[in-house]
Amino acid sequence: MIPSNLIAKKRDGKNLSKDEISWFITSYVSGEISEEQMASLLMAILFQGMNELETFTLVEVMIESGSKLDFSSSNYYVADKHSTGGIGDKVSLILAPLMAAAGLQIPMIAGRGLSFTGGTIDKLESIPGFNTSPSLDTFKKWVDLNNCAIVSQSDQICPADKKLYALRDQTGTVPSNPLICGSIMSKKIASGISGLILDLKVGNGAFLKNYDNAKELGVWMKKIGKAFGLTTDILFTSMDQPLGQSAGLSCEVLESIDALKGNGSEDLMNVTYQLGSKILIQSKITNNIKESEDLQKSLINDGKALEKFEAMVEIQEGTLEKLESTSRPHYEEYILSNSNGVITHLDTEQIGWALVELGCGRKNSIGSLDNTAGVQFLKKIGDKVHKNEPIYRLFNSNIKLLNSAKKKLNKTFEIKDSLKKDFQLVLGEF
Ligand code: URA
Repeated sequence: MIPSNLIAKKRDGKNLSKDEISWFITSYVSGEISEEQMASLLMAILFQGMNELETFTLVEVMIESGSKLDFSSSNYYVADKHSTGGIGDKVSLILAPLMAAAGLQIPMIAGRGLSFTGGTIDKLESIPGFNTSPSLDTFKKWVDLNNCAIVSQSDQICPADKKLYALRDQTGTVPSNPLICGSIMSKKIASGISGLILDLKVGNGAFLKNYDNAKELGVWMKKIGKAFGLTTDILFTSMDQPLGQSAGLSCEVLESIDALKGNGSEDLMNVTYQLGSKILIQSKITNNIKESEDLQKSLINDGKALEKFEAMVEIQEGTLEKLESTSRPHYEEYILSNSNGVITHLDTEQIGWALVELGCGRKNSIGSLDNTAGVQFLKKIGDKVHKNEPIYRLFNSNIKLLNSAKKKLNKTFEIKDSLKKDFQLVLGEF
């Protein structure tokens, strides 16, 4: 087969066959197809889409690009959670240990920052020494030891997603339903889990800008899950504003630890508990939402979920004692309100790009991250503000980048006399 012929075929809106998709992805993973050729096919897919059969094939080929984990002899219900990405979305850091404390096994394969959204792996790597790239055997051993571990895609498990994920991040080809579906479902199926809860983020700070599109993706993901024997539940939540009190790298780990100590913000805990309830009910550990929420709250109140998190960090070779000092930024600034009124709109995608500018994301493949960088959200939609009151605190350890991020952040909020429609965090379920 000739790569440029297949690129042109998709560019012209035609469907690719199973053999063509399989050949292209396999050749890309083995290095026989160049980054330029793969980027072109990704762009063609972004514009022309893929039908259900093509998407199914993409998932299958991506799973087969590496090994699969086998938890069939586990005594636990083995499950995972994944989100399509957002700003300040640190739920995985809280939910994985919380569900492990509740009696599930969570072998989580997560990603790095993607485009303007933050990544669980980048956040965890801000903990000194934290290892997200073990061998497959070590990953399994960690899960057996503590019932939860969080690692990245690797050359062993879903190498196709590892390469494609990094390329999509650099080429503006993330917001494509078949590509998102391929990326998420392949690594979840390869991890050998039985149950999955997906948080499909919808809104101006998500890849899925509207609910109808998100619902369509949800239908496909559920169907694909079923075809591979994976029970998949879906929650649709809003990304029309950041989740929680901060977004960035080590600041999100610190906020997660605080949440595990019982001090999580209402929005963050609401999403966490709703996702957790779905997994708990799916696993039959609990029978209804009330029982599930009570269990989760008690595991936080008695410190069991925090213990699981601390054990996970230790097993994954991280040192929490050093986190406070390594997360201290050299610089900070405040963005002040320019009038009296109510916050009516936040441009969450632009907040995400300001975070990339600060040092929380990659502008190119060689860019390094600043673990001290982030933004604290002092006001959210519906909050009253007075002129000169702070809306955001931004911080990092590079003054030039702080100043350019400040310019971006200055344009991300709207203040009016009143709010017309209340912000709705949870949009639906499926
Ligand atoms: N998370 C992933 O793992 N992949 C995507 O494409 C989007 C979010």
